[in-house]
Amino acid sequence: MDKAGRHGVGGGTPGLSLVVPCFNEAPSIKPLYEEVLQVLDGQSGISDYELIFVDDGSKDATLEEIKKYAALDGRVHYISFSRNFGKEAALLAGFAGSTGKYVVTLDADMQDPPALIPEMLASVSAGECDCAAARRVTRKGEPPVRSFFARCFYRMMAKFAEIDVVDGARDFRLMTRAYVDAILSLEERNRFSKGIFPWVGFRTKWFEYENRSRGSGKTKWSFWRLVIYAFDGIFAFSSKPLAIASVLGILLFLAALLLIAWILVEKLMGHTVNVYGWASTVCIILFTSGIQLFSVGIVGQYLAKTYTEVKRRPHYIVRESA
Ligand code: UDP
Ligand code: MG
Repeated sequence: MDKAGRHGVGGGTPGLSLVVPCFNEAPSIKPLYEEVLQVLDGQSGISDYELIFVDDGSKDATLEEIKKYAALDGRVHYISFSRNFGKEAALLAGFAGSTGKYVVTLDADMQDPPALIPEMLASVSAGECDCAAARRVTRKGEPPVRSFFARCFYRMMAKFAEIDVVDGARDFRLMTRAYVDAILSLEERNRFSKGIFPWVGFRTKWFEYENRSRGSGKTKWSFWRLVIYAFDGIFAFSSKPLAIASVLGILLFLAALLLIAWILVEKLMGHTVNVYGWASTVCIILFTSGIQLFSVGIVGQYLAKTYTEVKRRPHYIVRESA
């Protein structure tokens, strides 16, 4: 590993590095390898590439499958984690291990069509943009509830975070080396790619395509995992929830002042106050304590994130690579 943290799995400097995160994707490796070969080989200028599979602690035969192709084809490399560290960590390891002038990342399940790569590469190498990113224009094959919440998430991100998270943007991207190095320079432990990609800036060109269903296997993202991911994204890129907690506190304080003033005025005018006070008192106590807990929860989220950051544990642990 050199100073930049690069494992340097490849020999020489290939034109293009393909980074493929894999978690229990044994049945997908063969079709993916074959499609990449079919799309890239024979295309002028793209035969010089490296294909880096990042095995994110798969429990099935993913690593054995990858090793089969690594033995056959010198352009195939792999980085295998000691356990499952998540897709963000797998992407980071793949980027750090890539040596190509351009780097493209795509999912193992064929949802990101490799057929788009030549077009993306042409656009980036012509200097039209620093990052060619894919964006699906339909959510065909996805449960409607999921699509609905996905839309809500993008709207919330647009409101909360000061970065532009594009609806339907996939992690499927082809980037220049400078762009990848910028991503590697962000050392945060709570990595939220959907935010990190736009945060580093550069010029991004969008390539639109129709959604494809998974080639085989099933998605690793349950509904709840997506919800947690969405909140992680908001907490990672925005401190607005803290401001909301403060504003709620101030509003409640002002309401209390008004109430006190009203009681005092009533008292001075000789009226009896709070005859019917029990129910309303209970409601007020429940309401304010609810908001207090909610606010403490928000503060806790930031504290928890800070805690994982200050521990500075490695993003992932490599068991073997080649
Ligand atoms: N993945 C990973 N680690 C994980 C979960 C997923 O490396 O913990 C990989 C997975 O093998 C796939 C990609 O990330 O190549 C996207 O995962 P998936 O297809 O499950 O997500 P979706 O396409 O449904 O968003
Ligand atoms: Mg997928």
